[in-house]
Amino acid sequence: MDVIEFERQFSTEEACLQYLAQLRWPEGYRCPRCQHRKAWLTKRSLFHCAACGYETSVIAGTIFQDTRKPLQLWFQAIWHIVGQKNGVSAKGLQRVLGFTRYETIWIWLHKLRIAMVRPGRERLSGTVEVDETYIGGERPGKRGRGAAGKALVLIAVEDKGKQIGRIRLRRILDASATNLIMAVKESVEPGSLVRTDGWGGYGQISQEGFGHAIVRKSADVGENLLPLVNRGASLLKRWLLGTHQGAVRPSHLDYYLDEFTFRFNRRKSYSRGKLFFRLLQQAVCISPVPGSGIRGGN
Ligand SMILES: [Zn+2]
Repeated sequence: MDVIEFERQFSTEEACLQYLAQLRWPEGYRCPRCQHRKAWLTKRSLFHCAACGYETSVIAGTIFQDTRKPLQLWFQAIWHIVGQKNGVSAKGLQRVLGFTRYETIWIWLHKLRIAMVRPGRERLSGTVEVDETYIGGERPGKRGRGAAGKALVLIAVEDKGKQIGRIRLRRILDASATNLIMAVKESVEPGSLVRTDGWGGYGQISQEGFGHAIVRKSADVGENLLPLVNRGASLLKRWLLGTHQGAVRPSHLDYYLDEFTFRFNRRKSYSRGKLFFRLLQQAVCISPVPGSGIRGGN
């Protein structure tokens, strides 16, 4: 799909609704009340059951629920986001869409970032390098302690024979064994071989159903020689700096980590049309995100 096809396919609100309906009901429409399979679209954008008259909204229960803007604008926003290899800032997207309120676009971006985390996505497997990195500070911090103005992120990277496979990123409170093990369990499939440095926080990992290989003794974050996680961490930092000018509040970091992961894990099958389809598909699968939950400016 290129720009011309995109504009032709989504030239009306109805076309956008029908497209969402296909994504949401891949088996076709089925009335939730009487199971009938035929419906028509009303002026209020509801699917009206041809048998019993029950009306279903295709956007209820998705991130588009309660939106006051046309879906066409949402589609354009998504099209623009997936077209920019390095991501977009809220300001950049605001310019493209011509929104007057910065806050609206900021909320949209964050809703879409949440949609980038596919519900029930599988964990990493095989051989996985794991380490932590600090985001938001120049100097490397000391492990096991908090550092002012910095966030600690666990990075897990699949080792595909010296190549980076998929990644997972997870913000953690500190590098204690409890938090590290929890983050590893959320990111990596049991039975995988986890490669870490000699930090004691990873000491119990083999008791949690993982293989464990220690590559090097090291005490400080950012000092070890796990090449794949190091590369992943520097790409992440460069991206945060380049696209968002490093202006990422620790409280918003999770969203940025999700966007980076979405883009990074699809970097090889990069195609604008494919990413567009994938992001919309995920956007109709997740629960609505209340704007109040992500308010707070930039
Ligand atoms: Zn019905």
